[in-house]
Amino acid sequence: MDTLIVGAGFAGAVTARELAEAGERVLVIDKRANIAGNAYDRLDASGVLIHEYGPHIFHTNSERVFEWLSRFTEWRPYEHRVLAVPNAADGRAFPLPINRTTINSLYGLDLDEAGVAAYLERVREPREPIRTSEDVVLNSVGRDLCERFFRGYTRKQWGLDLSELAGGVAARIPTRTNDDDRYFTDRFQAMPAEGYTRMFERMLDHPGIEVRTGVEYARVADTDRRRTVFTGPVDEYYGQRFGALPYRSLRFEHEHLPGTAQFQPVGTVNYPNDHAWTRITEFKHLSGQQHAGTSVVREIPQGMDAPGAEPYYPIPNPANEALYKRYEALAEAETEVFFLGRLAQYRYYNMDQVVAAALALAQRLVDRPSA
Ligand code: FAD
Ligand code: UDP
Repeated sequence: MDTLIVGAGFAGAVTARELAEAGERVLVIDKRANIAGNAYDRLDASGVLIHEYGPHIFHTNSERVFEWLSRFTEWRPYEHRVLAVPNAADGRAFPLPINRTTINSLYGLDLDEAGVAAYLERVREPREPIRTSEDVVLNSVGRDLCERFFRGYTRKQWGLDLSELAGGVAARIPTRTNDDDRYFTDRFQAMPAEGYTRMFERMLDHPGIEVRTGVEYARVADTDRRRTVFTGPVDEYYGQRFGALPYRSLRFEHEHLPGTAQFQPVGTVNYPNDHAWTRITEFKHLSGQQHAGTSVVREIPQGMDAPGAEPYYPIPNPANEALYKRYEALAEAETEVFFLGRLAQYRYYNMDQVVAAALALAQRLVDRPSA
């Protein structure tokens, strides 16, 4: 074996494929029983395709990333739509990102695009500089929309106030003055036609790649000193010697509803204020699957102190980024270990960004063969 890859998610699988195609022999291990990392999907007991670790919607502006993945899957065009149910609105649901429809229907107005722009200009609270997620939201939509759609959701999702999170978190959600109700506006938006797991099976199906699931890195770390690409949490690799890097976890509550053809009108409904969960996703919208019943997942945020909690999100704020920098300095001093992915680079990466980062790392490794 030339390279050991820890983690069979996007970071590990894309790197493995590229190295194998360059003629290397690669061993991929993952502590879970499944490949595909958090993108893992499977048929549930009722035969509905579900995403075990929460809804994964593929979107990218990178033609290179889309073309690269297209070698391993056909695609089903899919544009994600999200409704949010704020408090004090009689349980009504409104498009998110906030757009013209959201503002007109919430406030009983009939504004055109210019009218919505003028409305937002009137209610927004200009902030300078813009540092936190609170700055981002108040600066774009003002206090009332912030409280209805953002503050409660963020408190639930992160266990922190908007003001305690870097601006980049809330900046993922744009504000629109038109009627566009798509969650993403990327050039390429599609779901792998036979699911993510099938796509990963094809990616990892190469004579140069061996995959072993159910294998913890700690079990091979001492005996195995070959070149390593590590895609797990970077602080774990270093025994948390500077203290634990904060990650946010979730509990996924899956449910099948027999005899219910459709549970909700769109793929995801967000619950900014009521309920313990942040959102409910109905998978048939994402997959286009026909089935007499339907399957949904509720995402219930939790800290890493919950029993069995897995790290899903790095928590972007200045203190955590400063702590990460200390681990990053150790990582950069390594000559035969490379850290890649959402947990290893402590970055709020989407899938396509991980693919791009993996392609770049693989290129570097191929250009500079193992010592
Ligand atoms: P992961 O997928 O986490 O893979 C890392 C793998 O390493 C895991 O399988 C883990 O078991 C393994 N591992 C860790 N430590 C060890 C160890 N010590 N030994 C052995 N194995 C180990 N992105 C989008 O683009 N669109 C979306 O709609 C979207 N929705 C998301 C929804 C949720 C709820 C979450 C949590 C993420 C979402 N993402 C989405 C982000 C997406 O999941 C990530 O960008 C992507 O999965 C990261 O890939 P990765 O390989 O870096 O990490
Ligand atoms: N957000 C919010 N209300 C919503 C949706 C999102 O306040 O209804 C904020 C919240 O802080 C969330 C962030 O915007 O964590 C990013 O949302 P996104 O849907 O991109 O999160 P992800 O899909 O990565 O969990």
